[in-house]
Amino acid sequence: MSSNLLTGSVSKDASCSSHERKAIHGCRFCDAPLKHTVCDLGMHPLCENFLTEEQLSEPEPFYPLHAYVCEKCFLIQVEEFVHGKEIFGGEYAYFSSFSDSWLKHAATYVDSVTDRLGLNENSLVVELASNDGYLLQNFVKKNVPCLGIEPAANCAAVAVEKGVPSRVLYFGEEVARGLRDEGIRPNLMIANNVLAHVPDLNDFVAGIKVLLAGDGVLTVEFPDVMHTIEQNQFDQIYQEHYCYFSLLTLQKVFGHHGMTIFDLDELTTHGGSLRIYVRHSDDETKPVASTVTDMHALEVAKGFTEISTYTAFAEQVRETKRKVLEFLIQAKRDGKTVVGYGAPGKGNTTLNYCGVGTDFIDYVVDRNPYKHGKYLPGTHIPVFATEKIAETKPDYVIILPWNLREEISAQLEYVREWGAKLVVSIPELTVF
Ligand SMILES: [Zn+2]
Repeated sequence: MSSNLLTGSVSKDASCSSHERKAIHGCRFCDAPLKHTVCDLGMHPLCENFLTEEQLSEPEPFYPLHAYVCEKCFLIQVEEFVHGKEIFGGEYAYFSSFSDSWLKHAATYVDSVTDRLGLNENSLVVELASNDGYLLQNFVKKNVPCLGIEPAANCAAVAVEKGVPSRVLYFGEEVARGLRDEGIRPNLMIANNVLAHVPDLNDFVAGIKVLLAGDGVLTVEFPDVMHTIEQNQFDQIYQEHYCYFSLLTLQKVFGHHGMTIFDLDELTTHGGSLRIYVRHSDDETKPVASTVTDMHALEVAKGFTEISTYTAFAEQVRETKRKVLEFLIQAKRDGKTVVGYGAPGKGNTTLNYCGVGTDFIDYVVDRNPYKHGKYLPGTHIPVFATEKIAETKPDYVIILPWNLREEISAQLEYVREWGAKLVVSIPELTVF
């Protein structure tokens, strides 16, 4: 295939233009002006806004998806065009319980943190963005009192049905003061994979500072910037993910609010994450471990205190787009059928950025029945139950949640019967 064909199919990618747009607002954390682009992914719809058939003929809002890095604190961030309350309040399609490996990850975490902190029936655990209670249910089984704080009413209702106490609240400093006035002082607070979703980062962290017991511990899990950049994981970037963190940036953020990161675990979730342990800075019973100082030194050594490390990402992203399109164009020329497995937010970033619709991918399947009969935002690819694959026997199945590659390839072993191949696009387009 000639490369000029590909050039013709690439659209909306403005990150190499000389008239680069500056961010409207300053840094979410330190308010410095945002002048440096990490990547510009063009215009995107909200990635969890699955559409009904009727909505397909209505206008759909698209927003710029442009990641900047702050030259002062190195926080990578996208601009907020829709308030978080609109995205996460009311009905939200993401239910955590539809991934087996994610459930297992949560159960393992609960076992280890219960031991580590000696949690028992006199303790209190509060989880922020507790979703459908997939994590807290493990504390309920251990008779450790817990409370979930969840902005999406439909997710919280599922948690309550499971016996996980949950409240529908949009967490911040004011909500934290209200809870504290009720006598709620958690020994453990959990903010796993939520910090990125918080538009007002300082208000959220201030709330944690207010609520956490004097000798309490906060744990935060997040896909870290070092993995995102080194592993080419540009699809971590989407409208509902406002911030992307390194350890060194979070040390500044928590330090500003009188809190200290004192330990961390390296995790394989989301393609490489960190779990940090945070305490009040004046709680000197928990010394800062070498895991923290070592990781900080590694991030500095790898250039994460230099702007050029971040800005070089844009070309990596454009090259991935070229490879995805190259594969799909060739597959269609050869008369092959291509479908997708999984409809996560990150899949929608890739599909919209590459401009891939039903002209390339017939449908996607997902285990979450909430999404069945609906259509992917932007690309309008229909979503079916997983059984659809066995019915239609496609030639290629693209695994969109590449971070669950192993789990999903095992589930899809049966497609080998009719000679189908599996595909992932990140970190590198691979057909296997
Ligand atoms: Zn900043």
